[in-house]
Amino acid sequence: TVVTRFAPSPTGFLHIGGARTALFNWLYAKRHGGKMLLRIEDTDRERSTEAAIQAIIDGLSWLGLSWDGDVVYQFARAGRHREIAESLLAQGRAYYCYASPQELEEMRETARREGRPLRYDGRWRDRDPSEAPAGVKPVIRLKAPTEGETVVEDEVQGRVVWQNKDLDDLVLLRSDGTPTYMLAVVVDDHDMDVTHVIRGDDHLTNAARQTQIYQALGWSVPNMAHVPMILGPDGAKLSKRHGALGVEAYRSMGYLPVALRNYLVRLGWSHGDQEIFSTQEMIDAFDLKNIGRSPARFDFAKLENLNGHYMRQSSDVELVDALEQLLPELDGDEHHLGRKFTPALRSKLVAAMPGLKERAKTLVELLDSAYYLYAARPLHLDEKAKSLLADGVSRLAGIDVKLEALQDWSAASVEAVVREHAEAIGAKLGQVAQPLRAALTGRATSPGLFDVMAVLGKDETLSRLRDQLS
Ligand code: GLU
Repeated sequence: TVVTRFAPSPTGFLHIGGARTALFNWLYAKRHGGKMLLRIEDTDRERSTEAAIQAIIDGLSWLGLSWDGDVVYQFARAGRHREIAESLLAQGRAYYCYASPQELEEMRETARREGRPLRYDGRWRDRDPSEAPAGVKPVIRLKAPTEGETVVEDEVQGRVVWQNKDLDDLVLLRSDGTPTYMLAVVVDDHDMDVTHVIRGDDHLTNAARQTQIYQALGWSVPNMAHVPMILGPDGAKLSKRHGALGVEAYRSMGYLPVALRNYLVRLGWSHGDQEIFSTQEMIDAFDLKNIGRSPARFDFAKLENLNGHYMRQSSDVELVDALEQLLPELDGDEHHLGRKFTPALRSKLVAAMPGLKERAKTLVELLDSAYYLYAARPLHLDEKAKSLLADGVSRLAGIDVKLEALQDWSAASVEAVVREHAEAIGAKLGQVAQPLRAALTGRATSPGLFDVMAVLGKDETLSRLRDQLS
């Protein structure tokens, strides 16, 4: 059976590239009725944090990407890694290296002078440990092949070949007895029965190193798929401004998990020209051979469009629930909204949702466009609304009295009053409706004005209007 794994280092939030890697692993496992495991690579004790682990787990859960079995923590397995390094030593596949920091620095110097990458020169490879200098704690290095090639048959990159003379004897165990990343990954993937390693192509050279370790151990190498990085819209490294953010940032910008999932699956993978995928469709169609070899570019406009699509597909109640969940993540309390919807506001939001969701691209926009429903008096007018009102407030004089005289308050009856008023003062409907909208909603755009007035009711409409007229 297929076993994939997502193996983040908890040194930061779950960023967008990591989320895509997790999604691809999850889809591949689902597609083949297999499992996806989660391994937290927390061996860098300085930089790994509990908060980052929590952010990774929350981010995956929010995205709907579940893993099988318990979370594996790499650091807890250090004893097992050490045991494997020592077994390689016992088999003559690895050796103690006593090279001092100064010696390594000299090698680095020589490499720099000759303009080639640092290569450890193997000076302890065949030396007898009895020659070891007193008091020096050795590292354990892999006795890597010096001739021939190391080949990675990558599902995305194709056949990638390294000359063994270019790969030096890598460190497996540091002098303090801690395993290196290279050793830990191989031992863990093996022990966890991982069949497919799907990860970013920044790990491609590591794949060659890891292949040498697998071979020394006589273990079979898992299938590999190294996925090209995500670039910014300009083709440069993805910057914060262009989307290199944690998943939680997308959540608080008001994207739906279903939209982000759909967006991420198309970042580097394609299925004909299909853009919209239900989760089941993604699972059914996902494969490794349609992952492109060239890097995908991040495109916020496309993400917004997908999000708009999924918002329009959501039921009104689902959207109100999503808005309520978003509330605690928004800064401050500028909308006087508290942290929860009252039942009365909830029903107003549900009623207004069909009109509101047509326009908004994110939940944040949706909440903003619903401002008129939850605004406390006096309303906070945005800049456009302010200038509309400043321009047209004189045309509203007296309309409050006419509205107050209405017995039956409905969209149709208020519309009649507003039309008559415009005619009476010789203005076009819009010249009255626009400042009126600004006064009642605090915004320059809103769902249909007469519906808004009907929903607000007579008292609230008149009070908001008179706040601005006085
Ligand atoms: N921990 C590594 C990272 O976060 C990934 C290792 C792997 O997938 O093999 O970049």
